[in-house]
Amino acid sequence: MPLEIVRNDITKMQVDAIVNAANESLLGGGGVDGAIHHAAGPGLFAECRTLGGCKTGQAKITGGYDLPSKYVIHTVGPIYKDGEHDEKALLELCYRESLIIAREYGCQTVAFPLISSGVYRYPKDQALRVAIDVISQFLLENDMTVYIVIFDRTAYQISEKLFSDIAEYIDDKYVDEHTDHSRERIRMNAFHPIVSELKRKKTDSAPVELCECQAMPSADDLNSRLDRLDESFSQMLLRKIDEKGMTDSQCYKKANIDRKLFSKIRSDVNYKPSKPTALAFAISLELSLEETEDLLRKAGFALSHSNKFDIIIEYFISKGNYNIFEINEALFAFDQSLLGA
Ligand code: ADP
Repeated sequence: MPLEIVRNDITKMQVDAIVNAANESLLGGGGVDGAIHHAAGPGLFAECRTLGGCKTGQAKITGGYDLPSKYVIHTVGPIYKDGEHDEKALLELCYRESLIIAREYGCQTVAFPLISSGVYRYPKDQALRVAIDVISQFLLENDMTVYIVIFDRTAYQISEKLFSDIAEYIDDKYVDEHTDHSRERIRMNAFHPIVSELKRKKTDSAPVELCECQAMPSADDLNSRLDRLDESFSQMLLRKIDEKGMTDSQCYKKANIDRKLFSKIRSDVNYKPSKPTALAFAISLELSLEETEDLLRKAGFALSHSNKFDIIIEYFISKGNYNIFEINEALFAFDQSLLGA
């Protein structure tokens, strides 16, 4: 997935480059900077000494030494004072400059910490928002997988307003439906004779005499229905892309889906995506709730009010908010799977 938020120690990330929230001297410090120098070993410090420091908002690259990543991109975030001292513009610049250097060095995978959100006191929710906005903008034009690596749980929390709005929506809609296993067994038994009859029919040409279950279709009927399959998920997806006047790459990038997965879906008419993938495309195509349900059905899924994930998606679609990264922030805050591959 092109943008992922993960909880980890950045020094453990197996990526082409990790980004360091450094200070202007580039000679090491506390926090993530200290952790990176500690894990990379003295070679990193020696190279940093040759760089002559780095201005706030700028970035410089070094080797990764003992780290699992090939490079470290050092960027200097702004010290947060009151939000009136260009802090946001400087923080945006840190992400952009780091991504540009990563692209210059051919990095396919890059991991960022939440720059400035520690000792430099940038409010974590706003720091996360800046990171998501700049990275997602960059990913619309570039093929790269970027991780935002978050160390502590509080940083996961999205802005108060979004959080409480969604919590309320979930409270309203969430129904904890327990599966009724006896009903489930009855359903299974009802369907079973047809399944076994179909299997038998494959090897046996004798006329079929079928089950007592009146409501179910006969095997012949079912066979003929199987011959008249509806448009598949892949077909509907490609049709919608055309109808919306999008290119394939605009669609999969906006869906936060990587190119390889999209090609697989494109080339396999019967491809069955996961539910988050199917929904990511619905969001990317800005489908209405009804169209979303339709696309989901093609993949064998439905939106349900007994599932927080579904309610969050429904909330965003009903508000006309199709920003996949904001949706993922919300899903993340509620410990749900994220949209995308
Ligand atoms: P800054 O001076 O830019 O604020 P800090 O290192 O103090 O930099 O903090 C930046 C962010 O990095 C903070 O959110 C902090 O929780 C996080 N952090 C600290 N150590 C690690 C680590 N090993 N991996 C990932 N993130 C980390």
